[in-house]
Amino acid sequence: MARPNEPDNLFTVGQRAMAAMEKYGIEPTPENYLVWFTHFSGENPALSRMIRLLEDNRDGFGCERCQELYQRFFVHDDAARVVHEASTRVEHLLATLVEQLSARREESEAASERIDALGTILGQEGRSETLTRIAAALRDETRRMAENARELGKELHASSNQVAILRASLERVRREAETDPLTGLANRKAFEAALRRLAAEAVETGRPLSLVVVDIDHFKRFNDTFGHQTGDVVLKLMAAKLRNSVRQRDVAARYGGEEFVLLLPATDLDTAVHRAESVRAEVAAHRLRARGSGKDLGVVTLSMGVAQYRPGEPLSRFFARADKALYLAKQQGRNRVVDERMLAGEEGVEEAEAEDTTAVANPAPA
Ligand code: GH3
Ligand code: MG
Ligand code: MG
Repeated sequence: MARPNEPDNLFTVGQRAMAAMEKYGIEPTPENYLVWFTHFSGENPALSRMIRLLEDNRDGFGCERCQELYQRFFVHDDAARVVHEASTRVEHLLATLVEQLSARREESEAASERIDALGTILGQEGRSETLTRIAAALRDETRRMAENARELGKELHASSNQVAILRASLERVRREAETDPLTGLANRKAFEAALRRLAAEAVETGRPLSLVVVDIDHFKRFNDTFGHQTGDVVLKLMAAKLRNSVRQRDVAARYGGEEFVLLLPATDLDTAVHRAESVRAEVAAHRLRARGSGKDLGVVTLSMGVAQYRPGEPLSRFFARADKALYLAKQQGRNRVVDERMLAGEEGVEEAEAEDTTAVANPAPA
């Protein structure tokens, strides 16, 4: 069998191809030459088998047969590749389209036009009937895809609007679920989540984390004297003071009733005591006055307990230490800040922990 890669054989194969084409009166086009050259080179046994069958048929071996062979053995592969590449490009276009639609809807129209243009080019370049048919089908297909893309664009635009609305309302619901409605501060649930998060972070980074528990002094008496509504105004005022006292990463929350908490990451016990003390002093320095009547409401004072997190300890124990310090502040006369170092010992803390009702879970193991 001839080996087309060797120069001598190449020449022989070429000659045989030319001779065969002359014999059958086949036009010496590159396509026809490729058919016969390939046959005599033995590269494509299926083609050679087909040519031998046609030769034996003695039905004549005109141009038409040769074109059929070309389409079947060469154009077909090429057309399949063209179709595959084109549809891959269409798919890519569509995928890109879907990604970009929510951001820039106009791109959808441009991409559809590109798909159309691709189909048109394929139609123009079709040199054989099959290729032309394939190109036309592809163009129709791409037009359909372009139309679908436009429809999809409309749908995606509508659904991305809905998604945005949905996301906004989910965000609002989430915020509401984490916010105390009276004061606008984080609620106890949000505080507990922040405590878990910041404690885990403290374990990881080795940075201190401090907690201040704040309780309004004799608030029952205040309510009894000035009414619950005025009491609410005071709660809002205290919340505003606490909110104004915290930095970006701190958490100020209403723990419940007239109790608040400050969660201070990257803050050691001394610094936390210092900050608690400045809030306490500021509140104690001002006489409150009823907004409408101007009536003197006296001075509201705060008691606070401060503790620093011991990495790895149960969060309930951490909270209990701050709470125990607050209790001590009340015992010692109120309007003061007490920190955990003033507590008698761990025993008292363990007791507090046993009664503890906080739903604070342990941090995830580091
Ligand atoms: P202490 O100094 O020991 O903390 O005394 P206290 O009166 O502040 O403590 P107690 O626990 O006896 O009473 C807390 C009061 O806080 C009782 C309740 O009426 C009041 N309170 C709790 N939540 C609210 C609220 O949302 N609005 C108003 N106006 N008062 C509240
Ligand atoms: Mg209380
Ligand atoms: Mg109180």
